[in-house]
Amino acid sequence: MSKKIIIAIDGFSSCGKSTMAKALAKKLNYNFIDTGAMYRAITLYFIRNNVHLDNETSVATALENIHLHFEFNPLTEKSDIVLNDEHVEQYIREMTIAQKVSEVAAIKAVRVFAVKQQQQMGKKKGIVMDGRDIGTVVFPHAELKIFMTADIAVRVKRRFMEMEGQGQHINLEDVMHNLQMRDYIDSNREESPLRQAEDARVLDNSDMTQEEQLKLAMKWVEETLANVYSDQK
Ligand code: C5P
Repeated sequence: MSKKIIIAIDGFSSCGKSTMAKALAKKLNYNFIDTGAMYRAITLYFIRNNVHLDNETSVATALENIHLHFEFNPLTEKSDIVLNDEHVEQYIREMTIAQKVSEVAAIKAVRVFAVKQQQQMGKKKGIVMDGRDIGTVVFPHAELKIFMTADIAVRVKRRFMEMEGQGQHINLEDVMHNLQMRDYIDSNREESPLRQAEDARVLDNSDMTQEEQLKLAMKWVEETLANVYSDQK
């Protein structure tokens, strides 16, 4: 039997969760699932189809018409989200989506829809999933849970550089405002709010390089594997 676990990574916006998840998945030969991309793709569909968020029937009908899956992109070495057969990675990273996504992700029906698919993806283990509720709701029994955090100034700078790199010109204040707004809504919503799971290991990467973070996370992976599979030696 191959030794595979589920790694759940949660934390605030722009803490480097996806970067870490991707690096870990590559090193371990696991699948990486960016659950934020799912909520962003749903938001894109809602905006395009003018779905009113407070109309339960419209939301339910829209969800019935949304089909999401991931496809591995060898160029970026990560899986891209596909919405009803359309590759939408480039659209879902825009500010218009970032401004609306937390409101959409707070809707119960949306969460039920996304969580069900995420749980399905983790059935065979060997997965690194990042989001806001992975260690608390999606995989409460994940063998390794990591809660990532970083100073707000560091996070704003990272997101700003990332957006500049994608050719989106935006000012620092808008980025800061968006991150604070999303963190607030994500942490205070009724449905699966962003919380650190009790058994999560905290990784504050304000002053860490990506290599240092990966080294620490790999140490945790090795400890976890040794623990989980100790009875099989
Ligand atoms: O991770 P990312 O910043 O792309 O996520 C976008 C938004 O999707 C978050 O701000 C949050 O509102 C929502 N989200 C969520 N639960 C997850 C992943 C993302 O509510 N598991």
